[in-house]
Amino acid sequence: MEKIKMNVPIVEMDGDEMTRVLWKWVKEILIEPYVDLSTEYYDLSIQNRDKTDDEVTKLAAEACLKYGVGVKCATITPNSQRLEEFGLKRLYPSPNATIRAIMDGTVFRAPIIVKGITPLVPAWKKPIVIARHAYGDVYKAVEIGTEGGIAVLQCGDEKKEVFDFGNEKGILQAQHNTDKSIGSFAVSCFEYALSQKCDLWFSAKDTISKVYDHRFKDIFQEIFEKKYKKAFEDCGIEYFYTLIDDAVARVMRSEGGFIWALKNYDGDVMSDMVATAFGSLAMMTSVLVSPSGAYEFEAAHGTVTRHFRKYQAGESTSTNSVATLFAWTGALKKCGETNKNAALVKFAQDMERAALSTIESGEMTGDLAGLFCADGIQVTKLGSKEFLQAIAKRYEVERAAEE
Ligand code: NAP
Ligand code: MG
Repeated sequence: MEKIKMNVPIVEMDGDEMTRVLWKWVKEILIEPYVDLSTEYYDLSIQNRDKTDDEVTKLAAEACLKYGVGVKCATITPNSQRLEEFGLKRLYPSPNATIRAIMDGTVFRAPIIVKGITPLVPAWKKPIVIARHAYGDVYKAVEIGTEGGIAVLQCGDEKKEVFDFGNEKGILQAQHNTDKSIGSFAVSCFEYALSQKCDLWFSAKDTISKVYDHRFKDIFQEIFEKKYKKAFEDCGIEYFYTLIDDAVARVMRSEGGFIWALKNYDGDVMSDMVATAFGSLAMMTSVLVSPSGAYEFEAAHGTVTRHFRKYQAGESTSTNSVATLFAWTGALKKCGETNKNAALVKFAQDMERAALSTIESGEMTGDLAGLFCADGIQVTKLGSKEFLQAIAKRYEVERAAEE
């Protein structure tokens, strides 16, 4: 069988610890035997970030914008303990934050659904993808703890009294956002909804926050009317705004299958709820979409340090590589779609199906073994590498059946 050719490279960002080990195996066992892989490689390991004074992270993000598609391995965000562990020159920021800032993107978190792992909300049959606005609001708020006095909000010449504390102690906070950032967020959401052929919901609290949240609602609506209404109609999908409390109630009653766009804080909180309800962090992917239409794919989990310590000690591990594999297949699919490479798209889809049917037939890693339940199917817990080999075997079988 001839390997599938790639006409345009994707940006490959290697990472740390257990996910770096999985990264190599996913490529060796599931991708390189079938695809003549073309990547521009950036080593984002903590050692190389330190060596390059974090320049490599910036170059990788710029390459994502240039080539349009990137795939990233999980990476260590250093804290004081890591500073000591690796003898770092300084505490580097989270690579994800650096990449997000350069790509000006929005993060979409999507669960991978598999038969046998039932969401805690039984009505949910399809993924619920959370789009979180990752700029401003309470994350960039200015706060004061006061002993009393009159609080005033001022910008330029405009001034408003917030509250007269008198002699009472209290607290106050000022939040901001910019039309530009909200607009980029909206564009990323509309673009992603079109690429996924999925309805888009946006919710905030504009009835209470008549200027702040209302501006979000207006910007979304204006961009939708001007640029996306027709495309959504042609695609057969819908955009609507609803109050956040109404959205929460609808989400619980829904069967899933939509993108839920949320302001920064709401997205932070709701994404953890939705991820937990869908089962396992190891079955959650994350896609960063820039308003210019560049995509960066990754697993939502971290470098799985606890498993890596066992691996280093020569012990066997059972680490789930599904989200890492889906980051790769997501990137290859996107690259195939934009560059009219149908064989690459088909490969990615077939490989995803092979991974899911491997689990559905009872072969899985330890994190899923305890959650899996399907009539008449015996669960076999596999090691990290064995699980990838089982997927490869199934991919070969399914492909042979097709021929
Ligand atoms: P983590 O790597 O996500 O792992 C937390 C725990 O979740 C693991 O110990 C494991 O539980 C379970 N788990 C996560 N992924 C799994 C998988 N693929 N298969 C099986 N189990 C899985 O989070 P962390 O331990 O808090 O963070 C480790 C490092 O990752 C940190 O240095 C952090 O900075 C970094 N991090 C990076 C990213 C990113 O690059 N996007 C995101 C988050 C964290 P059990 O141990 O119970 O089996
Ligand atoms: Mg959170």
